Amino acid sequence: MELAYYSDYAVRLVNTEEPARNKDALTSVDAVRTLFGAGVQMARRVTDADVTRFRNVRGRLRAVFEAADGGDHTLAVDLLNSLLMEYPVSPQISGHKFLDDQGRPDWHMHLADHPSNASAGYAAIASMGLAFHLTEYGPDRLGLCQAPPCRNAYLDTSTNRSRRYCSDRCATRANVAAYRARKRLEAAGSGKSGRTAETAQDSRALSER
Ligand SMILES: [Zn+2]
Ligand SMILES: [Zn+2]
Repeated sequence: MELAYYSDYAVRLVNTEEPARNKDALTSVDAVRTLFGAGVQMARRVTDADVTRFRNVRGRLRAVFEAADGGDHTLAVDLLNSLLMEYPVSPQISGHKFLDDQGRPDWHMHLADHPSNASAGYAAIASMGLAFHLTEYGPDRLGLCQAPPCRNAYLDTSTNRSRRYCSDRCATRANVAAYRARKRLEAAGSGKSGRTAETAQDSRALSER
């Protein structure tokens, strides 16, 4: 398992909140436990006190994505570095999973098996994963969805660095909105004079090419 894989922990946590819609899914111990994924031991250690701690870490991770998305890469790195300082990893090689039924261990890295609490463990894993992603692929790979009001975080893993939306759903929504805006413009243009309608048609023909 690549260490950059753990960057998904950061994305998952950040996207439990939709600030523009005033929505927050992180309101219970169960919601926090879900973030860890199935079969992760640390999830069992989540207590009521962790809900607030997770929200706090979430705000700080979102700030990293906001800085990176806004082009302030030094700030993104500074914010992430302070998270790494505060939530250090304690790497251990674990073999609790098996490669086959002969019991050959599937050796893999655990980043924080004995944290002071579940949120410290999660923060360490998420920050380390994000740090690996940032250094491996570049800070411009950390983005926020461009389909308002959504501002979900995403990691761009496309080969041509073209990703702008958190999901297919948001990409479709943005395309529909852009199409409607173009139609409105065309309608307004043709209402004024034949000349503008012609221009609108030309630009449409161009964009369809
Ligand atoms: Zn494991
Ligand atoms: Zn989105």
